Amino acid sequence: LAHRLDGLDQPTVWQEFSPLATQYNSINLGQGFPDWDPPNFVVEAMKRSIDPTFGRNANQYARSYAHMPLATVLAQEYTHRWQQSKLPSHLLPLDPTTQIATATGVTNVLYCALQGLINPGDQVVLLEPYFDIYSSQVQMAGGECVYCPLRPDTSAVGASDVFTLDLDELESKLSTQTRVLILNTPHNPTGKMFNHEELQGIANLVSKYPQLVVISDEVYEHIVFDTVNEPHLSIATINNGQIWHQTLTMSSAGKTFSCTGWKVGWAVGPSHLVKAVTSVQQWCNFSPTTPTQDAIAQALQTAREEPYQGYPTYYDWLASDYRHKRQLLVDALLVAGMKPIVPNGGFFIMADTQHVDFPYDDIANTQLSTAMPGYATGKKMPRDWALSRWLTQTVGVTAIPPSAFYSLDTVDLAANTLRFAFCKGESTLQQAKQRFETYF
Ligand code: GLN
Repeated sequence: LAHRLDGLDQPTVWQEFSPLATQYNSINLGQGFPDWDPPNFVVEAMKRSIDPTFGRNANQYARSYAHMPLATVLAQEYTHRWQQSKLPSHLLPLDPTTQIATATGVTNVLYCALQGLINPGDQVVLLEPYFDIYSSQVQMAGGECVYCPLRPDTSAVGASDVFTLDLDELESKLSTQTRVLILNTPHNPTGKMFNHEELQGIANLVSKYPQLVVISDEVYEHIVFDTVNEPHLSIATINNGQIWHQTLTMSSAGKTFSCTGWKVGWAVGPSHLVKAVTSVQQWCNFSPTTPTQDAIAQALQTAREEPYQGYPTYYDWLASDYRHKRQLLVDALLVAGMKPIVPNGGFFIMADTQHVDFPYDDIANTQLSTAMPGYATGKKMPRDWALSRWLTQTVGVTAIPPSAFYSLDTVDLAANTLRFAFCKGESTLQQAKQRFETYF
């Protein structure tokens, strides 16, 4: 295989733990995907997209850069939202033809962006823990990762305050070689939401480096728990759009509409950065699938304009439903003697597992994992990795070991943590609690 895949040709953490959960009939709170179907208005939108009697012309190739009906709705949506966030009026309205790109989920939008921006040796700063796909995509683009860990403040309450960003540490990682900084808020795996002060601090640093592009992955933007006191913030709008010209904002439909398999993602930003995505896409995918984009264009309009299940909008219902599920998982983890670090956004909980007693050495010495960090150099299996295997095999509940989200230098920060997903039905979460009650 090509050198760009060095170290990347083994199964990933996802390919290890989802099959392991199936093998042991374990409740899978690992990989983050909802175990229910999309809302009816989204499914109906898809039916209209593919049924010729509705005349939506969505069964052939889409416009390469973005299916126009979706680009149009997204431009309206972000214009409206960013007007409210006080982005200067000369930057608005957004132009759907040059300032919006869509691709096959944010994973693919990000891939196109990195391929379009990175030259060999360019540096990309990742805040640890980070979604594992980021570092692999940087490597495939020929870039070099530079890591800046979020430091845990164990006296704080709530993920936003527990996982702190040291701006001095971040500044020490930036240089004229830094091409991209990847930000993710609400944050996977911690559930942290970056606050105004942190985003201002980041924007101030970024503005010192004109070559630096911020990629802001905001796929959990609609799963936030205190919309009044802690609304989702986009760094593109911070300080009156101080770094708007340096920012690509990305999001997708999968988490918002519980349709992760539809893989509809987008980038919004200044045309010179959106061009990085569209220029790669036209040679790589040519265009993302049309029916899914067309359906999401309709769904975005319905979600914003119509009441849903007794709530003013679908988004209000979504946040409320996830707030309830978060509580169910918090209760379950407490039964297991774990300390949940309550997330402010997203659908994962990081739990402190230091008081869970299990045969770590037995697992580490007898079980093999090619996906774990350090496998190639013969390092001992990290504690969180062994614990997740043991929980799956013995207790029947599966989590993701956050070691997968750290570089080798800092992977020890993950030792006493596990990431649990609560994008699961109420009965699944109750069952997990019952299994904890039976065992612990
Ligand atoms: N983003 C989801 C998670 O973090 C799914 C990851 C994946 O399937 N690669 O669990």
